[in-house]
Amino acid sequence: MAKALALLSGGLDSTLAIRVIQQQGIEVIALNFVTVFCRCTSHGSCKLEAVKVSEKFGIPIKVINTTERFLELVKKPKFGYGKNMNPCIDCRINIFRVAGEYMREIGADFIITGEVLGQRPMSQRKEAMKIIDKEANLTGLVLRPLCAKHMEPTIPEKSGMVDREKLLQIRGRSRKDQIQLADVFQIKDYPCSAGGCLLTDPEFAHRMRDLVNSCDAGVNDVNLLKAGRHFRLDQQTKAIVGRNEEDNARIESLSQEGDVLLTLVDMPGPLALLRGAVTEETICLGARITARYGKSHLFPFTKVSVRQAKKDAPHRLIEVTPMSQEEADKLILKKISASNRSHEPSWVTEFNAG
Ligand code: SF4
Repeated sequence: MAKALALLSGGLDSTLAIRVIQQQGIEVIALNFVTVFCRCTSHGSCKLEAVKVSEKFGIPIKVINTTERFLELVKKPKFGYGKNMNPCIDCRINIFRVAGEYMREIGADFIITGEVLGQRPMSQRKEAMKIIDKEANLTGLVLRPLCAKHMEPTIPEKSGMVDREKLLQIRGRSRKDQIQLADVFQIKDYPCSAGGCLLTDPEFAHRMRDLVNSCDAGVNDVNLLKAGRHFRLDQQTKAIVGRNEEDNARIESLSQEGDVLLTLVDMPGPLALLRGAVTEETICLGARITARYGKSHLFPFTKVSVRQAKKDAPHRLIEVTPMSQEEADKLILKKISASNRSHEPSWVTEFNAG
């Protein structure tokens, strides 16, 4: 029996692609990728959507965390970024390369994906798909069942393993055909298509752009981007300030040796983390920002506790003037308009993980 390896995000399209292929009596094994940039669980759930789908279909699934490899691509993508910090073509090449290795390891004959021609402007154009397949050494081995009739026949179609006549010709960004097909297959409760990848989120992308422009970012740095307010104090130093207790706890749990932690002394308020080349000057700036976001901003002076993260060293106290909102607004990393970006991407938006 022919065996297909399915790239399964857990979204509707990849789920449908599996059903289309299963209908031809082909065995399907699923492969899912996660990275630090994924928002791949539905609200209130801790289980990956892809795992839920594979359980529903009774097919085996392997989940691969490709964060380390992917992070290097995000820093310097060969094929550039989408509208935000999403290097979709490089990302797909990376995923397909890993999938190709796994396909050979498990003796699968080809790969299937839920891609639809023209659905996403960066990676789902015919030319881009060709490049991705070629760069991943998979020319002719990636079958896209939902739009196959718009594409050249693949090796499994030419060899008769797959009946091309039973494949589909969906194209474009409308979801109408997929929703009708979901009805036919009685697939319900699929996640909406706008979940996906943090790199397509303008606010997160702005923080990410600042990070890669200022240091050799690691996974911990990226995780920190997801919490609190972020301030650029100088080229090498940032302050991350909690917005609530949950943020404070998250930021402290991500602190590392070399970081400095700041908290208010006489009243509740945020916890701030300083990372980079911390100096007395940046400690003072960070303390003034910390004071800005507690009740302390009502007072002319505030005491702030300063301590080294992950060290037993005693904390010390400094007294500062809370920063004005105007001053803080100049330092905060907020979403910027496209016309103000330092490097304009060459592609238009890629909305979601594939
Ligand atoms: S949007 Fe999808 S393809 Fe693009 S970088 Fe994110 S995960 Fe990769």
